[in-house]
Amino acid sequence: MAYKTQNPYTGEVLKTFPEATDAEVSVAIGKAHEAFLGWRTLSFAARGKILQQAADLLRASVDDYARLLTLEMGKLFTEAKAEVELSAKIFEYYVRNTERLLQPEKLEVADPAEGEAMLVCEPLGVLLAIEPWNFPYYQITRIIAPQLSAGNTILLKHASNVPQSAAAFERLMREAGLPEGAFTNLYATRSQVEMIINDPRVHGVALTGSEGAGAIVAAQAGKALKKSTMELGGADAFVVLADADLEKTVRWAVFGRHWNGGQVCVSSKRMIIVDEIYDEFLARYREGVAALKAGDPFDAQTTLAPLSSQGAADEIREKVKEAIAHGAKAEEVGPPVPNQGAFVQPVILTDIGEDNPARYWEFFGPVSMIFRARDEADAIRIANDSPFGLGGSVFTRDTAHGVEVARQIATGMVYINHPTKVEADLPFGGIGRSGYGRELLGLGLKEFVNHKLIGVV
Ligand code: NAP
Repeated sequence: MAYKTQNPYTGEVLKTFPEATDAEVSVAIGKAHEAFLGWRTLSFAARGKILQQAADLLRASVDDYARLLTLEMGKLFTEAKAEVELSAKIFEYYVRNTERLLQPEKLEVADPAEGEAMLVCEPLGVLLAIEPWNFPYYQITRIIAPQLSAGNTILLKHASNVPQSAAAFERLMREAGLPEGAFTNLYATRSQVEMIINDPRVHGVALTGSEGAGAIVAAQAGKALKKSTMELGGADAFVVLADADLEKTVRWAVFGRHWNGGQVCVSSKRMIIVDEIYDEFLARYREGVAALKAGDPFDAQTTLAPLSSQGAADEIREKVKEAIAHGAKAEEVGPPVPNQGAFVQPVILTDIGEDNPARYWEFFGPVSMIFRARDEADAIRIANDSPFGLGGSVFTRDTAHGVEVARQIATGMVYINHPTKVEADLPFGGIGRSGYGRELLGLGLKEFVNHKLIGVV
């Protein structure tokens, strides 16, 4: 059974779900289209009322919603609660801002005698969202809050290991008052994904996930001439300059690499430290990582969660072996992680040469790649020596200079003195193999609208 809940801490299979039939998928597309015809005519205020209700319902049962996340993909319960709150905030961002962001825009015309021109934003129709398991609710919210606000309707294909979180969100939206068909969770197969993309009633696809999945789905969307956005993997550079406040920097480095079990697209996966402070940084970082406490993700004392599945843990161990086979040095850090659960012992990788393929990989777990840079220019060069271009950070006491360095890093997001953040009111997305398009803010809202020109002559 492809769709199942298997607790990554206990290994227990809690529930399995049958995949959708082709007939069910067809019916869902039809209902989503029907729902669109009504939904697009509602006012922003009417749509916003439903989204606000969804935010209120999330907050009213935060522990229940959070528990499902920890059960299905193993994240710390405290982090699961923060994800529920973040999702509520994203709904509220669009409740407050959609009408303003989608205001018709009067265009400047060179010769007023020629008439007037305006740009209006209209929804496209049914969209497909394909989402990953690492932030099961946040990822859904990041697409449905803007797109429902804009007047589109959505079919969801969530990751196969979080079927209950997906179903809980579908129920949430119905309880909030969303019409039937406006947001439908489908336990779809890969061939059904292609069938959905090819359906003429479907107008776009947004995928968040790995490069591999992105390349396949983007090709399918391209072949069908449908708009797509791709939010893919990353290997964020965490650049530390000589004047950085080392104590704070190391604290953020340990957090940036290990929160959510190290399974964040914008985890600080490549630490790039200038020569002068490299040894001190490494010594302090090793201590910080060693102090992490792996254990039951429901226990408030736990600071290192298991990975999402035993398969994910095995895969990362294999990748570390490959990195070592190509010349990297690996150091296991901290007390042994529990035998029970999909844990991986934190590893620090150093001496990862330019001919080592691992240098260009994304490690989705507690594996830190640490690079020694000759100087600032070399640090920027290493930061940009990656196929990915998602986030990144620069640590320095001179924040103005930090901004200058940030301008030289080729990614979609760079933070000074913080690992790449995830907020309801900041945009998210990358370049290169990290994909294209943006989510959140007006940028995300306008990814799937028809920017229609109306000329009055
Ligand atoms: P994944 O294997 O690509 O899965 C993501 C989603 O795509 C799942 O729903 C998956 O379904 C589906 N999928 C995979 N292959 C597909 C195909 N050929 N056709 C249709 N759907 C397909 O990603 P993952 O390994 O679970 O998630 C981690 C990756 O996501 C990392 O690379 C991470 O960096 C990235 N990510 C990026 C962002 C961002 O915003 N840029 C955010 C979070 C995560 P199944 O579960 O059924 O395979």
